[in-house]
Amino acid sequence: MSNLKIKKGDTVIVIAGTSKGQTGSVLKVMPETEKVLVEGLNLAKKTVKRTQDNPQGGFMEIEAPIAISNLMLYCSKCKKGVKVSVERQTGSRVRKCKGCEHSFDS
Ligand SMILES: [Zn+2]
Repeated sequence: MSNLKIKKGDTVIVIAGTSKGQTGSVLKVMPETEKVLVEGLNLAKKTVKRTQDNPQGGFMEIEAPIAISNLMLYCSKCKKGVKVSVERQTGSRVRKCKGCEHSFDS
């Protein structure tokens, strides 16, 4: 079952793994693998080749994908990861926090 209540631009909190408790903004959702890239989280070192612009070469930190099942939407009012209900409204779906009714799509 896929849980694609997370969209690009959302703030999410990590609920499992090494980055547990950290929050960040979603850069990219990859529905095929049910993973997302979150800005500044789950950084992996990538080797950078020597180029004219970067004569030293070395390492660059890039975000590695995190499984959607390890993330929850972060509610700025509840100040924690929350469950979300989806309401169908004319022409769109609105995601609301189950705790405080805060809308994530307004
Ligand atoms: Zn809330």
